[in-house]
Amino acid sequence: MNLSARKRVIVIGAGITGLAAAHRMRELAGDVDVTVLEAGPRAGGVLETVRRDGYLIEHSADNFITNVPWAIDLCRRIGLGDELISTSTEQRGALVVHRGKIERVPAGFMLMAPARLWPMLTTPLLSPLGKLRLLAEWFIPRRKSAGDETLAAFARRRLGREVFENIVQPLVGGIYTADPEKLSLAATLPRFLEMERKHGSLIRAARAAENPPTQGAESGVRYGLFYTLRDGLTSLVERLVEKLPPGSLRLNAPVQSLRRDVTNAWQVTLASGELLAADAVIVAVGAPQAARLIGDVDETAAKLLGQIEYAGTSIVSLVYRRSEITRPLDAFGFVVPAVEKRRILAGSFSSLKFAGRAPEDQVLVRVFIGGALQRELAELPDDELRRIATEELRDLIGARGEPLLVDIARWPASMPQYHLGHTALVAAIEAAAARHRGLALGGSAYHGVGIPHCIHSGEQAAERMLAALRTT
Ligand SMILES: Cc1cc2nc3c(=O)[nH]c(=O)nc-3n(C[C@H](O)[C@H](O)[C@H](O)COP(=O)(O)OP(=O)(O)OC[C@H]3O[C@@H](n4cnc5c(N)ncnc54)[C@H](O)[C@@H]3O)c2cc1C
Repeated sequence: MNLSARKRVIVIGAGITGLAAAHRMRELAGDVDVTVLEAGPRAGGVLETVRRDGYLIEHSADNFITNVPWAIDLCRRIGLGDELISTSTEQRGALVVHRGKIERVPAGFMLMAPARLWPMLTTPLLSPLGKLRLLAEWFIPRRKSAGDETLAAFARRRLGREVFENIVQPLVGGIYTADPEKLSLAATLPRFLEMERKHGSLIRAARAAENPPTQGAESGVRYGLFYTLRDGLTSLVERLVEKLPPGSLRLNAPVQSLRRDVTNAWQVTLASGELLAADAVIVAVGAPQAARLIGDVDETAAKLLGQIEYAGTSIVSLVYRRSEITRPLDAFGFVVPAVEKRRILAGSFSSLKFAGRAPEDQVLVRVFIGGALQRELAELPDDELRRIATEELRDLIGARGEPLLVDIARWPASMPQYHLGHTALVAAIEAAAARHRGLALGGSAYHGVGIPHCIHSGEQAAERMLAALRTT
C-alpha cells in the first residue's frame, strides 16, 4: 500500500496485541512510520518466558490454540514456523480433584460437551443421579429466549448441577480465572451456544463432531490443537520486535493522555511531558488503562470501558524430582472445583505438556492461585504462596521433599472477565470509538482473551487504521 505523504501511527502498549498491530502495519505499508510506546521496561506485556538454570518457565500463557489461524499464521509469516511445537502425544488428558482425590476427566469430555457416553457413565465424578441427569441432556429442548445467558446457567440447564460443579466449573474456571455464574456464554464460549442451536443437544453435537470418535484418553480439551514455541512464547515477542525498524519501540514510555488538536491530528502525551503527534493511534492496553487514556476524547467510551471487570492470578512454578512425586503423572495437569474449597485453582504439569521445559528426571509444575473466586489469595506474600502451593501439591499429587526451584509470577487484574452482556458492551464501546477517525482499540478486553484473538484484534486494528489513512 502506498500512502502519498508519510503517515505516522502510534501504538500504545507493546503486549502481543500492540506488537501484532505494529507488525501488520509495516507488513501492509512499509512507508508508514510506526512508533510503539510501552509503559514498562520490556515488551510482551503478559507474555514472559524465563529461561533459567536449564529450565524454561512461562510466567503466564504457555500455549495457544490453533482452531483459529491468527497465531500460527503470524508465527509462520515471521519465520518461526520451524519453532512451533505441539503438546506431547503422551499423557494427554486432564485430572480433576473430587472429594480430595485426583480423578480423570472422562475421556471425550470437551469443556462442556461429552463426546462419549461410556466414560461419563463410569466416572466416579458423578453420582448415579448426576449421570441420569446428564443423559437427559439429549432430550432437553433448546432455550427459547435469545438473551445472553451465564455459562453456569447454561451448563446447569443442559448438563445438570453435578456435571457443572464437578467438571465444567473447574475446567472453565482454570482457563478464564473467572466466576462462571457471571460469565457470558455468548462472549466466552459461543461454540457451545451454536452446538445447542444447531443440534438441539451438546451430546449430539459433540458426537457428530467426534465422528469417528478419537481413541485414546484425551479429555478436558483437544490437546492436538495447542502449540507453543520451542524456546517459549517470548520468542514470538522478540521476533516481532526484531522485525520493527530500529528505534520504533520505546520502552519505559508510559502514555499519560490522548487528545486531538485543532488540525484533527492526534496528540499523545507521555508521562514525561513529551508530546508526540500522529495520524492514527492504536490503543492496545487493558480496558481500565484504555478508559483513562481516552477519557478526554470520548467520555462515553471511557465509562463503558470502565465497566469491564478484571481478575488476577499468581502462578507458582515448582520443580520436583519425578521420584519424589508419588502419584503417577499420567495427564497434563489437574483442575480444582470451587466446591472442593481448596486454595489453588489448578496445577499444570508444564514439562509433560511440552518438551524441553525441564530435565527428564524432573517435573515442572505451575500452580495457579487466585482468580475471580479467590481474589485475596493471589495477593498473599511470596512465602505464603509458596507454602500453599507446596502443601496442596503434597496433598494432591504426593509431591514430597523440597522443590528444586520455586518461581513466583504475579498477574494482578490481568484477565478481563466477559460478564453477562459483554458482547453488547463491546459493540457500544466500538461504536463510540469508531466516531473518532484514526482511533482504534485492540486487546484481550474485547473479542477473546487468548493469544490468537489478541493478535487478530491487533491486526484488524492496524488494517482499519490503514484504511482510514488511505482515505485521509
Ligand atoms: C496468567 C495468564 C495466563 C494466560 N494463559 C494463556 C494461555 O495459555 N494461552 C493463551 O492463548 N492466552 C493466555 N492468556 C491470555 C493472553 O496471554 C493475554 O490475553 C494476552 O497476552 C494479552 O495481550 P495484550 O497485548 O492484549 O495485553 P497485555 O499483555 O496486557 O499488554 C498491554 C501492554 O500495554 C502496556 N501499557 C498499559 N498502559 C500503558 C500506557 N498508558 N502507556 C504505554 N503502555 C501501556 C502494558 O505495560 C503492557 O505491556 C493468559 C493470561 C494470563 C494473565
